[in-house]
Amino acid sequence: MMPTTPRLRALTFDLDDTLWDNQGVMSRTEAGHYAWLDDQLAAWLAQHPGEHRRFSDVISIERYQAHRQQLARQNPLRRGDFTWIRERALVELLEAFGLSRTSAWLWAALTMPRFHAWRLQVSPYPEVEPLLQSLTRQYRLAAITNGNLAFHRLDLSRHFEVIIAAGEMPAPKPDARPFLATLGRLGAKPAETLHVGDSWKEDVLPAIRLGMHAAWIAPHAEPDPTLPEGVHQLSHVRELPALLAKLGR
Ligand SMILES: [Mg+2]
Repeated sequence: MMPTTPRLRALTFDLDDTLWDNQGVMSRTEAGHYAWLDDQLAAWLAQHPGEHRRFSDVISIERYQAHRQQLARQNPLRRGDFTWIRERALVELLEAFGLSRTSAWLWAALTMPRFHAWRLQVSPYPEVEPLLQSLTRQYRLAAITNGNLAFHRLDLSRHFEVIIAAGEMPAPKPDARPFLATLGRLGAKPAETLHVGDSWKEDVLPAIRLGMHAAWIAPHAEPDPTLPEGVHQLSHVRELPALLAKLGR
């Protein structure tokens, strides 16, 4: 008998809060690169004559965060490009602190690699490496993230044929374009593809609108018997093999 739905051939994955818990990473990244800038800038200024205030005494981390939000509002097309927003915010705030434009650009450029180094300090759930390893035997894998971590620098990224940084396209999820670009590059039809992600709005909805299947990672949600067709609720990515086995029957 012919199956009623095409067999799944490809899996696309969200990263943050799907393959690892991102909460601690973001707070450590935020505090870590800001403290690095504050310390290094203070040491540099100390070599110059005169009294110098510390960057963190003039520009609080809250002001830095508020300035990024303001830049995102003022630049709607770049709103998902968090690297651009962050570097621009640093330049403007370093100028507001009193540096020349050239020095502000220099210090912002020196700080961004520190940001990216912290941002990469993710700890994938222990099940993830063997899970991806075994999935590659049967499926083509892609990653679609709105986050700005340099994922290709993680060993884990070797399992993915396609990695799309949607925020830098710039078309952050729930925009359909990163999904369409991924399907195109995998050569997979939507009905043959399952997207795995934790966000209802940014992962599940755009995937099912395109006719993909979706695995919704919802650790804190009650099981919902009224989910749309094609949506499967999981409490952890480790439950994915059981779902795939069920769908493959
Ligand atoms: Mg996510």
